[in-house]
Amino acid sequence: MTAIYNFCAGPAMLPKAVMHKAQKELLNWNDMGTSVMEISHRSKEFIALTEQAEADLRSLMDIPANYHVLFMHGGGRGQFSAVVNNFLGDDGRALYLVDGSWSSAAVVEAKKLAGDSNIDTINIVEVSTGKNRIQFPDFSVIEENYRYLHYCPNETVDGIEVFEPLNCQWPVIADMSSNILSREIDVSQFGLIYAGAQKNIGPSGLSIVIVRDDMLMLPSLPQSSIMDYKLAVKHGSMYNTPPTFAWYLAAEVFDWLQGMGGVAAVEQINIEKAELLYQCIDEVDFYTSAVAIENRSRMNVTFQLVNAELDSVFLEQAKNAGLVALKGHRSVGGMRASLYNAMPLEGVIALVDFMRIFAEQHA
Ligand SMILES: *Cc1c(COP(=O)(O)O)cnc(C)c1O
Repeated sequence: MTAIYNFCAGPAMLPKAVMHKAQKELLNWNDMGTSVMEISHRSKEFIALTEQAEADLRSLMDIPANYHVLFMHGGGRGQFSAVVNNFLGDDGRALYLVDGSWSSAAVVEAKKLAGDSNIDTINIVEVSTGKNRIQFPDFSVIEENYRYLHYCPNETVDGIEVFEPLNCQWPVIADMSSNILSREIDVSQFGLIYAGAQKNIGPSGLSIVIVRDDMLMLPSLPQSSIMDYKLAVKHGSMYNTPPTFAWYLAAEVFDWLQGMGGVAAVEQINIEKAELLYQCIDEVDFYTSAVAIENRSRMNVTFQLVNAELDSVFLEQAKNAGLVALKGHRSVGGMRASLYNAMPLEGVIALVDFMRIFAEQHA
């Protein structure tokens, strides 16, 4: 069988080594004679796993001691509502930057829960004219005392990434669902970081929350207990039964990442992968990118065939060559190749080889 490279945006491919290990110990984890999903989340063996997972994530991201690390339910969207309910209280206001599909979806949820008038938005990108690089407004002239500013540094659907730090006077909340652990960041610049696991961490159903302890003093709205950060902290992310198998796989991915040399090392590979693909898109007239060079995502590379009538042939032949899940999101069209940490360089080389040959054959 030819190698299959899976470019799905999420749930995405997981590292082969992790999947092999999980398969090997599926029926007998930790010499217990059962699988990890069949034991109590409060057993000493599982608690040891969670402690190791947290220690590994702290070391991978260099998370300062005044931040809590939570393993929660509900994916990325669960956090769209959790941040509102935990931080906006009765009268709190928040500012949302909109740079693509997911940040707009976060606004819809925030307005639903907090009321339209408590959520201000600034659109920092016109996706249709995305040739212009993203510029942040001058926040210092805004006098509003927002509880937080929310943004999405990597827009998975649109293929837009914001690399520079946001300098603003309010705590910054970042939806890093699709770029967490893909590059080095300074956690201390954020009030809260969250990520659904299924892009760069593990299977769906789990989300990671990294929250600065003083954020927990903000007044909250009445909310369901399982999304309450304070309760999650108090109960070690086990107020109710956590998604144990997803947590276990996330722990294995963290361990694998450390074996790769950590985030700095994997970032270099991610840069190399993305450059290789964008170079092909730029060099070959057959393909185009709609995203400004400075904001091209390393994780989700969106591109179009100049002749969109060839889209289905492209996808069909790519699939036959073992290159799967390249269809762009239905709202954007074209193609999307997601190059998360688990995607090896060889996968991108195979894709670029295919794209060059396809272009020659259909020129
Ligand atoms: C996938 C994704 C989400 C939604 O995640 P769910 O787990 O499906 O709720 C939110 N934000 C970003 C940036 C994403 O990529």
